[in-house]
Amino acid sequence: MTADDTMAGRLARIQQRIREACERAGRPSGSVTLLPVSKTFGEDAIREAMALGLTRFGENKTQEIRQKAEALAGLGLQWVLIGHLQTNKAKDAARDTSEVQSLDRVELADALHRRLQNAGRTLDVLVQVKTSSEPSKYGMALEEVGPFLRRIAADYPTLRVQGLMTLAVNSPNADEVRACFRALRELRDGLAKENIPGVSLDRLSMGMSGDFELAIEEGSTEVRIGSAIFGARSYPDPQ
Ligand SMILES: *Cc1c(COP(=O)(O)O)cnc(C)c1O
Repeated sequence: MTADDTMAGRLARIQQRIREACERAGRPSGSVTLLPVSKTFGEDAIREAMALGLTRFGENKTQEIRQKAEALAGLGLQWVLIGHLQTNKAKDAARDTSEVQSLDRVELADALHRRLQNAGRTLDVLVQVKTSSEPSKYGMALEEVGPFLRRIAADYPTLRVQGLMTLAVNSPNADEVRACFRALRELRDGLAKENIPGVSLDRLSMGMSGDFELAIEEGSTEVRIGSAIFGARSYPDPQ
């Protein structure tokens, strides 16, 4: 049997693998959301994805979100920022995104809050946590997350924390990858007991094309899938 190498075929296979991973983990199949990651892919690819029912897309650059949001305005699409956000781009993120999953420092929370206050809106955020020791990965150290959440709850009411996000170590060793996902879930489980007012920790965004099944087994509620749906990216993306 040859695999159907169209976006429809690739998407169907990913959805099937998500269902199977849920089943293996004894979780309901609706408990994991798919966030298609369209970064580096153009308007045509996004239109093709829309025709397959996808309306919410992960991107890692505010400039790219701006371009796509303009080109595809009025179609009801939602843009989720999953890449590192420079503080001086907080204004763009506050304007163009429905959610930021890469909140990783007070300075950025402060900048986003000021922009959101001016705009009179709130923003869903996930706190990005560094669960591996790879120097290239952004994210907050595990032990800083509790104090950070309390700070957001106290000072930044426009930021609505929905959960945590991480990138696992890029390793062929499944145990090392799994350990990153487990660390995020355990951190969440501990912090959830504190019941910080206004802070929800229901969502765990973890897992990408190469490791999402492990992430689901470790409790992911949202997998961010790019290349396995859109195909190989023609230029690399810095994280
Ligand atoms: C690019 C990216 C993804 C998707 O990666 P794939 O390997 O293409 O599935 C997920 N999360 C983040 C933060 C990314 O930058």
